[in-house]
Amino acid sequence: MEVLSVASEIFPLIKTGGLADVAGALPVAMAGKGIGMRSLIPGYPSVMSAFKKKKAVLQYAQLQGGKASVHAINITGLDLLVLDAPHLFDRAGGPYGDQTGHDWPDNWRRFAALSQVGGDIAGGAIPGYLPDIVHAHDWQAAMTLAYARYGKAVTTPTVMTIHNLAFQGRYPAAIFGQLGLPGQAMALDGVEYYGGVGYLKAGLQAAWAITTVSPTYAQEIRSPEFGMGLDGLIKMRSVDLHGIVNGIDTDIWNPATDKHLVSNYTAKTLKARAANKRAVEERFGLDSDDSPIICIVSRLTWQKGMDILASAAAGIVAAGARLAILGSGDAGLEGALLAAAARHRGRVGVVVGYDEGLSHLLQGGCEAIVIPSRFEPCGLTQLYGLRYGCVPLVARTGGLADTIIDANEAAMAAGVATGFQFAPDDGDALLHAVSRMVAAHRDKAVWTSIQQQGMKADVSWDRSAEKYVEIYRRLLSKRIA
Ligand code: ADP
Repeated sequence: MEVLSVASEIFPLIKTGGLADVAGALPVAMAGKGIGMRSLIPGYPSVMSAFKKKKAVLQYAQLQGGKASVHAINITGLDLLVLDAPHLFDRAGGPYGDQTGHDWPDNWRRFAALSQVGGDIAGGAIPGYLPDIVHAHDWQAAMTLAYARYGKAVTTPTVMTIHNLAFQGRYPAAIFGQLGLPGQAMALDGVEYYGGVGYLKAGLQAAWAITTVSPTYAQEIRSPEFGMGLDGLIKMRSVDLHGIVNGIDTDIWNPATDKHLVSNYTAKTLKARAANKRAVEERFGLDSDDSPIICIVSRLTWQKGMDILASAAAGIVAAGARLAILGSGDAGLEGALLAAAARHRGRVGVVVGYDEGLSHLLQGGCEAIVIPSRFEPCGLTQLYGLRYGCVPLVARTGGLADTIIDANEAAMAAGVATGFQFAPDDGDALLHAVSRMVAAHRDKAVWTSIQQQGMKADVSWDRSAEKYVEIYRRLLSKRIA
């Protein structure tokens, strides 16, 4: 079976969040199941500079305002199809916006181009390659399924994965004429969305199957509170909707071999984490003592509950814990967290920025990681926490609710607890979880049991990859039938 995956990010070449980790890990997991997965991605500068030899397998004299070509390359075990379209992707800044964080005004054009190429490839545009299944990730790739449906690949089974429903790719109706889709596509069951064009909506409408990244989020998005305007459509398609929890790359995230750690360790040598903790204290300007450090590795946004965290910082310090915060995003939230660090010198440390290596060190040195998200489709940092014995404190929502077992009395007695959950997502509930965590930390046997239980949890891709394979197989049988 050959699957074409289309995504706007892929680890290790370009990453702003969990989408990249998943897009990078799934092909590897699929290879383990005997399934070929090629990934179509945009040729951003960081992607183009990763390969020297170019071999075009597809060329466009004109693609959304300029010349373009697709190159087949293999990098770190990934079979990539890179869309080289300099007028769309060769620019400084991030994948979606400039250095000041402003979205590119032509994002509609950039990701329509990616999707159009995805649709063409699905229809056999690359000689000798005809994917059996097309799998699109998030709004940036979602229109692939519309191009497939209204083009040559109308009979190719398609899967749309929602990593975050908050980002939808909504544009005015005026762009429709430039998308190269037939007029009939501008309809309620096509790309039309509240009078404009909706990219994710179009993908959800066209997809043979829809997946999202946890069973709880799959339930939540049927409600107006989490559905972000798409709950009606999602409810309508609920027979085709599946919640599959993400796995993580257990080779990249392995405390026994991780090069970003000062000291490697296993579940049996947890004492060796101490050297990593000292390194965290140094890097974040924290006092050196035995009190637990709670880390945060996050985009600094409202979704991630970073305002709740900033206002709870004083209470967390009063409860006897310290905070090491790594993140970037909303300038107001950065300011609020930096102000908390200034007020609690030695107890709260903040590093503003994106630092992959430091994110590993935090997981390998801190006692706990807190994730106070208002909604969280899956969340990956709690899974890294489990793997690293960095006990997760999580809001009870989406994938956080599905992956962490709260250390209540029953779970402790059964020896299955892996972390702490709290609800609702507010400062009081968060502080209550912190005080439970600090109390558990004082009892070495209890603490070690929670850490070791987490490290035993299966966070690999194996089971989840199997679920995707089942969906692919089911769709293929529908096609034949
Ligand atoms: P989302 O995709 O919504 O941002 P996830 O938890 O699914 O949230 O994935 C976030 C990914 O980005 C994780 O791999 C996490 O370690 C990483 N990450 C987030 N912020 C930073 C940062 N400031 N520095 C390094 N890695 C980060």
